[in-house]
Amino acid sequence: MIKKIKDFLGFDIKADKYKLSNDPIFGMISDEKKPDKWVFSTCGYCGVGCGLYIGVKDGRAVYTKGDPKHFVNKGVLCLKGLSEHQLINSPERVTTPLIRKDKELVYDSWENVYSKVADEFKRIKKEHGAKAIGVISTGQLLTEEFYTLGKFVQLGLGTNNYDGNTTLCMASAVMGYKQSLGSDGPVGSYEDFEKADCIVLIGANIADNHPILRLHINKNKKNPKIIVIDPRASKTAQMADIFVPIKPRTDLALFNALAYIIIEQGWEDEGYVKANTNGYKELKKHLQNYPPQDVANITGIDIKTLYEIARQFSVNDAVLSAWTMGVNQSVMGTDTVSAIINLHLLTGQIGREGAGPFSITGQCNAMGTREGGFTSSLPGYRNFGDKKALSEYAKIVNVAQEIIPTERGYRYDEIIDAIDRGEIKALWIVATNPLVSFVNQKKLRKVLAKLDLLVVQDAFMSDTAEIADVVFSAATWGEKEGTYTNSERRCNKANKAVEPLGNTKSDFDIIIEFSKYFDGVNEMLFPSWNKPLDAFNEFKEVTRNQLCDYSGITYELLEEYGGIQWPCNEQRPLGTKRLYSPDIPFRTKDEKANLLCVDWYPMSEPASKKFPLILNTGRTVEQWHTRTKTRSMDILNDLAPEAWVDINPKDAQELKVKSGDRLSLSSSKGKVEDIVVRVTQTVAPSTIFVPFHFNTQLINTLIDDNFCPKSGEPNYKQTAVQLHSDEVPDGIEFKEEQRGVISYVKIENEEIKLKEREI
Ligand code: SF4
Repeated sequence: MIKKIKDFLGFDIKADKYKLSNDPIFGMISDEKKPDKWVFSTCGYCGVGCGLYIGVKDGRAVYTKGDPKHFVNKGVLCLKGLSEHQLINSPERVTTPLIRKDKELVYDSWENVYSKVADEFKRIKKEHGAKAIGVISTGQLLTEEFYTLGKFVQLGLGTNNYDGNTTLCMASAVMGYKQSLGSDGPVGSYEDFEKADCIVLIGANIADNHPILRLHINKNKKNPKIIVIDPRASKTAQMADIFVPIKPRTDLALFNALAYIIIEQGWEDEGYVKANTNGYKELKKHLQNYPPQDVANITGIDIKTLYEIARQFSVNDAVLSAWTMGVNQSVMGTDTVSAIINLHLLTGQIGREGAGPFSITGQCNAMGTREGGFTSSLPGYRNFGDKKALSEYAKIVNVAQEIIPTERGYRYDEIIDAIDRGEIKALWIVATNPLVSFVNQKKLRKVLAKLDLLVVQDAFMSDTAEIADVVFSAATWGEKEGTYTNSERRCNKANKAVEPLGNTKSDFDIIIEFSKYFDGVNEMLFPSWNKPLDAFNEFKEVTRNQLCDYSGITYELLEEYGGIQWPCNEQRPLGTKRLYSPDIPFRTKDEKANLLCVDWYPMSEPASKKFPLILNTGRTVEQWHTRTKTRSMDILNDLAPEAWVDINPKDAQELKVKSGDRLSLSSSKGKVEDIVVRVTQTVAPSTIFVPFHFNTQLINTLIDDNFCPKSGEPNYKQTAVQLHSDEVPDGIEFKEEQRGVISYVKIENEEIKLKEREI
């Protein structure tokens, strides 16, 4: 066994056990500041999942440092990880439960806030039915907490109107995997960045968003060809051998053209396609609509480059495509994911070392929430409509099958619409901050005001907590125990280093205690559960024999090996590096993947005279999401204190603006004031970029509520806007709120009309 472990890890962890006394960082700390102990844990920010140690002195977290033996980061942390201990004692913490009295949020006891919310939930359930309660949770919770919450909400409260903020970032990847491969589940490993001959980064600015992933690319000894496809010359684009500055939202057309070229040139892997896929003939016919010349016009990428990118899929032994929000956050997000997967299936670039389509997740536990289920699927990747899966789950958790929902309830955007219609009366928001992160902020504020009850469970006084009727004060990272699963399916252990601050409780404890206020619910769902391990042990059974099999994972193994990639079971005791190798078939009925015919459409609201610039939004390395965690950290805020707008010199000249000017932005949805201008070549003419983190320049005010119809993911990345001085220019009116079916504009423009052509 030891030899096997050594082979798997590449070093003998036992022989090379971590020693504090030899640690250079430990040696540099003065005696006075030296922590009493170092507690092993995992970073609670992004989906990279870096291993680290929390230094504790006199019961307070005082340092964070990388775990030199951890697979993911080998001792390195980004800025956020290095300062993570500071968030525990942030002045933004909610330290005790709060309840609204006479328009003010005031301190109250846990008993009173639990009673108030339970009574209201019961009243609403009696008067309007259980589905009048909605819940929005998060990829910030530990898997044990997320699983416990989902079980309580769906089987205890009896509402399936439950979704997570992961729908705002990863839902398109989930649905794309499902429709192409038969199941959710990222295919590859970070090791594939080290082994690939060619790495294609699509809408993925990893330098800002997943900085530690660059280490894995740096470790690649093959000098891989790096292709970066992005409308913006981001920091990541600086790494590229081929930078592909694609026009906004034309990626799906690009991938269809690449598939066209691969087939036209006979670059596909015929044997692989025949043995492992369905739909080749249909796809070949469908691709006639995407000849390279036409797609060159659509994307702005010349034909020679199109052929060169397509060729890379054929001439290299191992091609890895990795993507993030640039692909997912689109009205065509799901189908764009499938168009990327098509390329890998056609060329057999999947299920092998260094090869595969790879979605990189945003939040620390976006993956755990996907496997923990109760949102787009039942736990353990069971489909809602599958009767066998439903009865299996009922048996494992020992509940009546009738209480398990047979269909998905409302998605995030549909929950907001249902509140607007008066159908949902109470909303429980857990560790997420829609008042910065959701689209069409003006409408959202009006909608939330219609609720009978808004409960926010959070460790920080978020913008949304400020308008809540009740706040459940939660513990945060470093104060609680459980697991996070990262982008490469690696389940990592997060440990409690210090006691929860003030009168806060772990999310696990809050849910378990709150469930006791509902007759019989705690006894039915959580018999004798008093620690996260109880939830983890049930979750392991729930996932046994599923693709996301956690059954072989124990907390002890996670600590010993620095995380384990599912599936992990008796046959695979140390986990699995990649899916869909020959011994892991696709999860469709006939075990073959689907080559899918997917279509590109032009933007429904393109640039116009009134709104001549296309706004792209994204992140910056110093800040995290809506800044609830990072806004009190000087080291991060000094580097990125406010939003800015990047604009190309050509547009700057036309608009007569210069770097340092403070201007406003307007779209058909509203206006954002006081954004500092940065003139830069990193954005193309007619496009601008603004980071989305800041409530001071609330950029999501401008974003329309358009969603991918298959995943519900918002179209954050392309909004037609105008940059102007404070006064709104003549002719700009803000449209009344309206929400309907997404209207795609069919291709009418002669210039981009697709011609019929035989491949
Ligand atoms: Fe944490 Fe992500 Fe930075 Fe790693 S890369 S330290 S997981 S924020």
